[in-house]
Amino acid sequence: MRIDHLEARAILDTRKKPTLETTISANTFTATASVPSGKSTGSHEACELRDSDGSVASAIKNVNEEIAEAIIGKRFESLDELDSFLIELDGTPNKSRLGANAILSVSIAAMRLSAMLKDVPLWKAISERAGTKPQAPRLFVNVMNGGVHADFKLPFQEYMLVVEGKTSEALPIVQEIFAKLGERLGDVPMGDEGGYAPTFDTIEKPFEILTDLIKEYPSVSIAIDAAASELFHNGSYELLNKTYAPEELTSIYGSIVSQFPIHSIEDPFSENSGEDFAKLMAQLNSPSTRLGATTILVVGDDLTVTNPARIKTATENKELNAVLIKPNQIGTVKEAIEAVQATYAAGFQAIASHRSGETMDTFIADFAYGVGAHGIKAGGLGQKERLEKYKRLLEIEKEA
Ligand code: PEP
Ligand code: MG
Repeated sequence: MRIDHLEARAILDTRKKPTLETTISANTFTATASVPSGKSTGSHEACELRDSDGSVASAIKNVNEEIAEAIIGKRFESLDELDSFLIELDGTPNKSRLGANAILSVSIAAMRLSAMLKDVPLWKAISERAGTKPQAPRLFVNVMNGGVHADFKLPFQEYMLVVEGKTSEALPIVQEIFAKLGERLGDVPMGDEGGYAPTFDTIEKPFEILTDLIKEYPSVSIAIDAAASELFHNGSYELLNKTYAPEELTSIYGSIVSQFPIHSIEDPFSENSGEDFAKLMAQLNSPSTRLGATTILVVGDDLTVTNPARIKTATENKELNAVLIKPNQIGTVKEAIEAVQATYAAGFQAIASHRSGETMDTFIADFAYGVGAHGIKAGGLGQKERLEKYKRLLEIEKEA
């Protein structure tokens, strides 16, 4: 591929914060990509370049000047070669010079352009590049927001419904339950990810409500993202104004799992607490505490940050059995694919994920399908940026 044009500009994400949208052209074909932005970010993530005024002006300048000058007119034999070139051009371990947001916008746009040039759907191009079998991901739909996404009105950041089956079967079910939940909660605001943001004074209440709502739907279970790095202060965890030692939090998870139909728990402990993850893994999945025949997924997000090396360590130490994959945590499509490969090499599940600050870009839907992910986190039904991802999954189902 020989790129003949590259240009980035600022657009606004769901939180009305600026982010990059980048357009790339080759052989009269043009592709565009925009990048999301997290709020409960892990400290080991690649660096999102943001100026002190909150803008992404420097990242945009880096695409339009340094990256454009370096790649326009140069021939790249493969997308991996282009991504490796961008990584080297940046030259830092965490992409802090050019910005992971700047680099990823080029990497995704180039992937999309390459699929267009080959005249194959993006998910297919991703599966060929990754060497993975495409598969419809389970929907992990965010229905209640807490933590930093909703001023800590609920202790955990995300309460999701997990639906077995393909998107066209799963989505109507979620729509029905989401509407019933809305009626049950009454007039409550929406959180950052397009789920409801109610206030409850017990840890159990959100689980009681969801369990009651899903009881007629055998294909539905509950997932949470505790996003516990955000709850962690001086060695313990704060939930609803009470402080818990790691062992006490482990007991809370054990109690939740024994009472409610839980599919997965993401980031149950803070990003540097791999040992506590490992203890929880052993406890939840021991035969005596297991719910039926189902393995409870313990999912790494801030712990693993889509970083193949961190994923390898976490899997070797049995800290988790599923890994969240967010391309902007690492900064290139190449490395996001390597993160999936590291997860699969250990025999575990990958869950592709959006960020809490999203755009209309639907790359993550194609990525989830193309790498055959166990699931996709794409947010609640209350924001158009999240609905775009579900719409794209429905399109993919027809294309496949
Ligand atoms: C998450 O923590 O999984 C998430 C999607 O939130 P954020 O983008 O704020 O990290
Ligand atoms: Mg998370």
